[in-house]
Amino acid sequence: MVRLAVTVGFLALVVATSADARDFVVSDQQAYAVAAARVQPGDTILLADGEWRDFVVRLAGEGSAAKPITLTAQHPGKAILTGRSSLAVAGKYLVVSNLVFRDGHAPGEDVIATRIGKQWAENVRLTGIVIDRFNNPDRRFEDHWVALYGRDIRVDHAHFEGKANNGAMLIVVRDKGWPLDNRIRIDHVYFGPRPPLGSNGGETIRIGTSTESQSDSHTIVEDNYFERCDGEVEIVSVKSGANIVRRNVVVDSQGSVVLRHGNGNLVEDNVFLGHGVPHTGGVRVINERQTVRGNYMEGLAGTDFTSAITVMNGVPNSPINRYLPVQGALIERNSVIDAARITLGAGASAERSQPPSTTRFTGNLITGRADPFRAEASVAGIVFSGNVATNAPGVPGIVARPRAVTLARAANGLLYPMDPALAAVGASHALAPIARSATGVDWYPKPASTPIAFGSGATIPVASDAALLRAVGDARPGDVIDLRAGTYRLAAPLVIDHALTLRGSDAILSFTVPTLFQLEDGGRLQLRGVTISGAAAPHQPGNAAIRTSARPMLTNYGVELIDCHFRDMAGGTAFDVIATTPATLAGAIVIAGGSITDVSGAVVAGHAETGKEGYYGTERVTIDRTAFNRVGVIVDLFRGGTDESTYGPQFVMTGATVTDSGPVLLSGVQETTISANRFTGSRGVAVTHSVGSPHTVITGNLFARTPPPEMRELYYTGPARALIADNRSTS
Ligand code: CA
Repeated sequence: MVRLAVTVGFLALVVATSADARDFVVSDQQAYAVAAARVQPGDTILLADGEWRDFVVRLAGEGSAAKPITLTAQHPGKAILTGRSSLAVAGKYLVVSNLVFRDGHAPGEDVIATRIGKQWAENVRLTGIVIDRFNNPDRRFEDHWVALYGRDIRVDHAHFEGKANNGAMLIVVRDKGWPLDNRIRIDHVYFGPRPPLGSNGGETIRIGTSTESQSDSHTIVEDNYFERCDGEVEIVSVKSGANIVRRNVVVDSQGSVVLRHGNGNLVEDNVFLGHGVPHTGGVRVINERQTVRGNYMEGLAGTDFTSAITVMNGVPNSPINRYLPVQGALIERNSVIDAARITLGAGASAERSQPPSTTRFTGNLITGRADPFRAEASVAGIVFSGNVATNAPGVPGIVARPRAVTLARAANGLLYPMDPALAAVGASHALAPIARSATGVDWYPKPASTPIAFGSGATIPVASDAALLRAVGDARPGDVIDLRAGTYRLAAPLVIDHALTLRGSDAILSFTVPTLFQLEDGGRLQLRGVTISGAAAPHQPGNAAIRTSARPMLTNYGVELIDCHFRDMAGGTAFDVIATTPATLAGAIVIAGGSITDVSGAVVAGHAETGKEGYYGTERVTIDRTAFNRVGVIVDLFRGGTDESTYGPQFVMTGATVTDSGPVLLSGVQETTISANRFTGSRGVAVTHSVGSPHTVITGNLFARTPPPEMRELYYTGPARALIADNRSTS
């Protein structure tokens, strides 16, 4: 079509020479408003290249199938919405394409919503939309990037990356008064990394809520690529009926596809690749008539609710928001290769007391070094047939023919048995996993596969206080500051906002302010071999050698203390080594080797979040071979409430010596290992279980003049569920 440009006032109006379709090229918000009020079916509004700041876009209209109304960028990816920007569309036959949202966040509850007020969208397509880390700066604030109201909506070839604040990234809204038969299609979308949120609300996709979950949504999620979608235990949370999740590729993502509410859903021909990453899962089945068929699952390390295949126990006469018993499920021809677990009757308890029934588990291929099957309830309601496993299932009643299986990697990258007799067992040879490059858009780069590592940058030699301050200010991500021998005395905190290493085995850092290292958003700190002295710090309560920001942090931070020595931190009360603040989350805190001596506070003060909603401050704390002497509290980790949406907090302590020191305090920690440590004249270990099904192992420790471990259950009333064994007590 040949088009002529005519300028009308501030509005650049491009008039078509044929068939009354017009292009409006607009270059400011006022011009957009004029164009949006004038568009007719077949017209296109083009946002001029450049930054559109604080732009609340509304597009309402009625096009037709042959003549949709289109909003797009003058050039794909060149119109960037920043600041407090959002998009609301309502009406019929509308297309929005090739826009980028970044460097800002939604002014309200959604970045993109397919509604304006009570008016929803039908026959709308959102294609080539990029939303990149468009996060409310407070991680506790809930919003959504895409909220789909209405029906017959397609979201395709989008690139969504890095949602870090609370709220499911994409939701299909099925509240009372809105369309329930949605017929939405989500395809060829690149769902990029979503870091652990540290609470419920970290889903990548949620289809409906429990209230209207007994009706059918007919939403299809297909041919998408999910990469490191780690927000919480549910990657895709299905809360309605008759949805299809098929042909997606899910890579290194902590969580699973969860058929949480609603019946008659199909999960088919997906490829889950875990590469042994902890908590990578497959599909979790709840409710009635669910089908899990033809999926390929390799290297999934998840257990319990995040097993490769999890079939839950249900609640008899369950309230709508709890767990409807599994009935009539079909789990057929899945390949489960080198997976940690398949869990049946998962979550059985006094409340979840009804095992799965009228369920078939058939034609599945299960290979690996160990038998992955576990059952937490009766499997009598599951009929097993035609399954093949390389290890005979150890659970009575689970049937799979044990035999040796030699696998070979096929051209599609997936493993299949070489024996043609097994051609009809496990996933289809015809699977064609969607390529990462076939999802998202080709004009916006996908993120690097791994974040910047400690020590990957340049080495900066430093020999004076002033040079140290300057080097920290100038360092690039991954750089290493190499401290010459000597004592450094800092009169201001060192602010860390990216990955940075300080090393120097003959360097002593002392500080005359309450904090030595201040971690800001993006910060990750590694210390190697240095000595930190608190002797010069002010004598006041609340000092900390390392402290997180007083402001909320979106990026999960990290601290590694390798062979470091902390001392003279008993001046003033509650002098902590690492103090956490609300609305920040440590991805990992590692303390390895070294010593911590004369500290009045906690080595890890991880109790800044105290609410019942389930936020917590540290995903994982690891202590290995460190010597603690005269320390107030070794660690104080707290997570409140009973929410089951996260994997953390996790705590591992091995090979440490603890002398004349206070306790290890763990409350609401979900995974605990305390092994081969020596406690002398100390308060020992106090563990409080509250969340989900915690795993606590306390073995092989010496408790000399130290009380034995204390265990407390806040809600659970069954038999003891911590493994406390092979410990030795002496007086
Ligand atoms: Ca959830």
